[in-house]
Amino acid sequence: MTDVPATHPRYASLRTRDAIVAGVERGVTSIHGLVAHGRGEAFDYLLGERTRDFAREAIDAAAAMLVTARRPVVSVNGNAAALAPGDLIALAAAVGAPLEINIFHASKDRERAIRSHLLEHGAPDVLMPTAHAVLDHLDSNRRFVHPNGIHAADVIFVPLEDGDRCQALVQSGKRVITVDLNPMSRTARTATVTIVDNVTRALPLLLERVSARRNDDAPQALLDRYDNGQVLRAAEIALRAG
Ligand code: ATP
Repeated sequence: MTDVPATHPRYASLRTRDAIVAGVERGVTSIHGLVAHGRGEAFDYLLGERTRDFAREAIDAAAAMLVTARRPVVSVNGNAAALAPGDLIALAAAVGAPLEINIFHASKDRERAIRSHLLEHGAPDVLMPTAHAVLDHLDSNRRFVHPNGIHAADVIFVPLEDGDRCQALVQSGKRVITVDLNPMSRTARTATVTIVDNVTRALPLLLERVSARRNDDAPQALLDRYDNGQVLRAAEIALRAG
């Protein structure tokens, strides 16, 4: 771990960078994941490395969508597993969703490494991609899914998604919640709910909102009012304003 003191103004960012590097060293995160992380860091820097109101609004909608879902699934890739394994497991438990591994760069070893990593962090079970269920509208490795997981899901929480799969999921009639620091990515623009925030900050807030929503009798009304386009416009304005 970095020897930067906790008082350093960008301590959290540097700790997050350490977590991604550790993920690569453990075989959980692909080397390409470092590049994706760097892109995220740049956007986070411009957003002041804090959760903005547009992200809180999306987090609220995401919580409402997850608690009203019939078959939610939490999809995990190598970056998300390295950055927030405990929170992903807690979210899956809180909404009664399975965790399913789905990665862009094909590697059975890495899929197994992510699975072990999640099990070590307390996941009761982890679904793996299979050749028995395939997502339509997609050619990459990410089309292989689990028949009882993503294939059958109505709502998928998938942080740090890639645009192609997000499109394929939406075209398959699924609602997609993503966390993406870039409000201009194809993923951000295609998802049903886009949380423009760092996944490390967004997940604890989402967990909090999921608990609060359990006692709320109107999650559907909140979803009806929610406008993802408006949230993305607000995020882009914030980025351009610096
Ligand atoms: P798309 O295909 O959706 O246009 P992309 O090709 O721009 O995406 P990818 O490399 O597939 O991007 O994924 C990286 C995305 O994840 C980037 O948009 C980046 O901003 C975002 N990202 C990286 N790290 C984080 C993080 N810690 N929290 C939230 N978002 C992140």
